This record gives sequence, C-alpha cells and structure tokens, in this order.
Amino acid sequence: MAKPKVALYWCASCGGCDEAVVDLAENILDVVAAVDIILWPIAMDFKYKDIEAMEDGSIAVSFINGAIRTGEQKHIAELLRRKSGLVVAFGSCSSLGGIPALANLTSRRKIFDRSYHNSPTVVNPENIEPKMKASVDGHVLKLPEFFKTVYKLNDVIDVDYYLPGCPPTPELIANAVTAILEGKLPPKGAILSPDKSLCTSCDRNETKPEDVTISKIKRVIDIEVDPEKCFLAQGIICMGPATRDGCGQSCINGNMPCTGCFGPTDSCRDQGAKMIATLGAILEGDDENAVDKVIEGIVDPAGTFYRYAMSASLLGGARKEVENE
Ligand code: SF4
Ligand code: SF4
Repeated sequence: MAKPKVALYWCASCGGCDEAVVDLAENILDVVAAVDIILWPIAMDFKYKDIEAMEDGSIAVSFINGAIRTGEQKHIAELLRRKSGLVVAFGSCSSLGGIPALANLTSRRKIFDRSYHNSPTVVNPENIEPKMKASVDGHVLKLPEFFKTVYKLNDVIDVDYYLPGCPPTPELIANAVTAILEGKLPPKGAILSPDKSLCTSCDRNETKPEDVTISKIKRVIDIEVDPEKCFLAQGIICMGPATRDGCGQSCINGNMPCTGCFGPTDSCRDQGAKMIATLGAILEGDDENAVDKVIEGIVDPAGTFYRYAMSASLLGGARKEVENE
C-alpha cells in the first residue's frame, strides 16, 4: 500500500521548527518508514513544479512553519492547502505570527530604510532597494512581494490543526504524527496541546503564595534566581499564567521564566492582555505613581507580552495592508 504523502514547508522562519523535526532523533526513522516525504526544502531538493503537478488533495498532511511575510510564502501555502487533506500550522510563528510578527509594530518602509540605507554596516550610495522585477542583460529577475504585514497561517489559508511551541517539542510532534497516522485526531481547529495554563502543571506552583505581590520587577540578570521558587514570587515576569501547557517546562527546568511560546489557552483572546491583567492585579503600589515606577522595570513590553502572538493579538491581528505604510 502506498505510504501517506507528507510535506514540510517553511515560511518566515528561523529554521528551528525544521530542526525540531530532526530532534525526533531515532524516532524520525519510524516517521520516514511510515510516510513518504514529498517536500522539505530545508533538507532535500524538491521542486515546486512537482507539487503543482500533483492531484489536489493527494498530500495527506502538510506541516507549515513560519509566518507569512512574502508573496512566495502565501503562494506556496495556498498551493499546499489545495494539494493537502490536512494542513497543520507548525510552531508559534505559523500559529500566532511568532517573533517575525513583532515587525508589525513598525512599517515596511522603516524596515527597508534600516536594512538597505541606515544600518551602520550598510554602504549603498546609489540607494538601491530590492524590486519585485528587474531586467539584467535582457533577463527578467523576479522577487516575491514583501508584505506590509506579517500574517499567521490561518490569515491566508484554512488550517486544520495547530502545533504550538517555539519550536514544538519532539514529544508533541511525535504525538501529532501518530494521531494523524492512526486517524485519532480531535475536532478540526484544535491546538494539539493541553488546554490549561502552564502554571497548573509547573513544579514551582506550590511555592507561589496565595497573594503574590510584586513591588519591584527584576530580570534574571539582576538577581541570583532561586531554582525552586515561582518566578513571579521572585518579582520576575513569567508568562506561565497566560500560556498554554505542553512544553514539558523546558525553560522553567533551565531556571528561566516562561516567555509564552505555546501561546494562549482556548478561552483567552489575547495572551499579552491576559498577562498584563495578571500583573495589574499583583503589582504593589499605593498610588498611580508608585505603580508606574514598578512598571518602569518592564524593559521591553512588546517583546515580553507579545513575543509570539502579535499576529493573533488585538493589537497586531486587526492590522490591514493599507494601515501599515
Ligand atoms: S516557532 Fe520558533 S523555532 Fe519555529 S520558526 Fe518560529 S522562531 Fe523558529
Ligand atoms: S508563574 Fe511561572 S514559575 Fe510561577 S507557577 Fe506559573 S509557570 Fe511556574
């Protein structure tokens, strides 16, 4: 019997999600034995035209990582949607916009200015910028459009399932592949990780006082972090209360606070807003000025609260092309 065909594709991505597949270690041999990988640009040389020639729906599942920043990424996502029975948004960038979507706080113009003109290491006296079309010696060269907005995958195509994480853990990936192969999938649209907050399973939860308060926000570089105690109880921002469980506490076990890469739980509309509300309830201060002083300790609010979920947030999600000149 023919093995199910599987595609792995990367969009605006760091490569870490593909690396996570390699991190399946010897389990990858089981995956390779069970499926027929027909596209995986980071690892093997497949051609788009071969995918275009396939029958619609003939790929069992496409795992797409990375956010959507360019016309080429959108085009291939649409192509894979057409050719695939299932599409899984793989990782935070694909599911929520991820780190690339922090660029939605600036504009394409400013990104180009920085990259091609103003950066101290750039020498560009003729002010050349990449163009979508250029003629060189009679040959036409084309580049994909660089969108004004960074999109999450389900902004451009219909997505069946979501694998959270930056990157997803090998265990989650293996579970998802097994569920797909055995046809034991939850209802369409599900996020393939437990729908509860990280705090509920965190080993340090018992050390979180009932009425935790923060009078000064600290960073891990400022203090010697107690490896047993809840980070919030130590005054360090930990995104655990606003973040989905399922990562295996890899950061917490490394004595680093959660930065929120698994995104929010199902009931939460905006991960950053939930964490801000959580902090709002526990920051100590008798008046507005005292609270303002505590807030000053948050060095990078956007990177702290929206590091992975900007495209899915109320702030960045509603942004349209025309709004981001
Ligand atoms: S989710 Fe994380 S590991 Fe995956 S592409 Fe984005 S930044 Fe890289
Ligand atoms: S805030 Fe962080 S350290 Fe504290 S219980 Fe939640 S996940 Fe654990």
